[in-house]
Amino acid sequence: MTQQRTPSVVVIGAGMTGILMAIKLRNAGITDITVLEKKDNLGGTWRENSYPGVACDVPSHMYTYSFEPNPNWSNFFARGPEIQAYFEMVADKYDVRKFIRFNEAVTDARFKDGKWFVETSESKQLVVDFVVCATGILHHPAYPDIPGLDTFKGKMFHTAEWDHEQAINESVKVGVIGTGSTAAQAIPELINSGASVSVFQRTPQWILPLGDFNIGPTAKKIMNKYAFTHKIMRRFATFFMEHFFTKAVTGHTIQKILLSFFCKTNLRFSIKDKQLREKLRPEYQVGCKRVIVNKTFYKAIQRPNAHLITQGIDRITENGVVTKDGKMHELDVLVLSTGFNPFNFMRPMNLVGRESLHIDQAWSKSIKAYRSILLPNYPNFFLMLGPNTPIGNFSVIAMSEVQGNYVLKLIDKWRRSEFDEIEPKPQAIKAFNEYVKRGLKGTAWVGGCQSWYLDAEGDPVLWPYTWSQWVKEMSEPKMGDLITTSIMSGNSDGKNCSKKNEEVAA
Ligand code: NAP
Repeated sequence: MTQQRTPSVVVIGAGMTGILMAIKLRNAGITDITVLEKKDNLGGTWRENSYPGVACDVPSHMYTYSFEPNPNWSNFFARGPEIQAYFEMVADKYDVRKFIRFNEAVTDARFKDGKWFVETSESKQLVVDFVVCATGILHHPAYPDIPGLDTFKGKMFHTAEWDHEQAINESVKVGVIGTGSTAAQAIPELINSGASVSVFQRTPQWILPLGDFNIGPTAKKIMNKYAFTHKIMRRFATFFMEHFFTKAVTGHTIQKILLSFFCKTNLRFSIKDKQLREKLRPEYQVGCKRVIVNKTFYKAIQRPNAHLITQGIDRITENGVVTKDGKMHELDVLVLSTGFNPFNFMRPMNLVGRESLHIDQAWSKSIKAYRSILLPNYPNFFLMLGPNTPIGNFSVIAMSEVQGNYVLKLIDKWRRSEFDEIEPKPQAIKAFNEYVKRGLKGTAWVGGCQSWYLDAEGDPVLWPYTWSQWVKEMSEPKMGDLITTSIMSGNSDGKNCSKKNEEVAA
């Protein structure tokens, strides 16, 4: 019987995907795993985002790993700290912390002679067979390019870098720039604190009023006792997200009409004042920007201590924000809820592939990958949640699981010595991107708005078909689309020749 090779793998990032990959690799019998995490704890997005009101807008029972259901969620849409606690619990239960090196960022990863040479901020080097890049999508805060931003004398911070030392109460004047998903969660909390809150809105957003509800002790008891009830919740949530939400934004007429109806009715009946309602009415089609799932924002923005400002920001001074109508809005605190740079992915680290190709150069014109995961000239490198992953209002955990299985299937082939190096064929990437582009034509994302979904060419970097189709297409790697090379076949039988994950001083 042929003996399998044992690969060495570096996983970059200990967020939701990094934890998942460590578990999956270990379950597959791979033990030479190093997870490099730049911060001092795991959790990724849920560790970073601690702003008031932080929660998930994907139903909790669906926002869990399939192998680790959680019948104990306190809310239908779980709050940030509870999600963070879930990931910490999973990491402990599956004993993956032992693979994680905290406070060690990857600064440089380059492919040479069939191996990845990974350098870290601790001046260490690892030499491995595979790199799994689990750096997530939205983790580089975007700061607005507004004149005078640096001159503000009060406290200023991004929502992803919340300053918990700053008291927010009746005596504080807070300004919030931005009205995206994050702002819709944070603003009601700020308003409820009694602070005077000025919301600087550039573009209004459509809001779906999906109610959050508390899951009481009896419901939890039932779900703990009868596992099938929890499974039903999960299936129902998945069905709803796929057959209503995802289809509504990817050109399915009935769902599109329904989603549009719910959002428009929500605006009509939630906002009493006609002038305020018109200020909050988007001009683009529902779903063009990520639909906000929220029941608190409209209520809060009508409170006397809330001020919706739509005149546009002219500049920021040391005392506050001056709008284009010349009005000065004096502030003590300025919150930047201005989103993230979605296309940084693994950057700013240096990723260098074949022929010394730097990722900045490879992606200088457009950010493309084969099936979101594989990049030409970067063999044995897997980009998790890469471009055209079916993000939208679906669970990223489910997406990572599907991609994780795909990666494991390729690594398995390597273990059976079917190849040494793997990367996509250029024509396969072209065909994949043309296929995606054809599907994007009918989607809401090209519905006349600006959003973080769009790349520099104005193309949404999303998956335009159904979730089931994506799962089906990802179920087995199409080896005909991939270039496989066997570098060792000339001088060995290609088996048992992988070096152990070596660590040396860089
Ligand atoms: P976002 O959706 O990109 O919103 C950024 C906001 O900042 C927009 O309102 C934008 O206005 C505004 N903005 C940016 N630059 C500005 C400037 N120079 N002047 C004035 N306004 C400016 O960011 P986000 O709210 O952080 O959400 C990002 C994503 O994170 C979401 O789409 C979602 O995927 C994820 N998220 C998820 C959850 C969850 O519950 N699962 C919660 C929060 C966030 P324009 O619209 O005019 O550009």
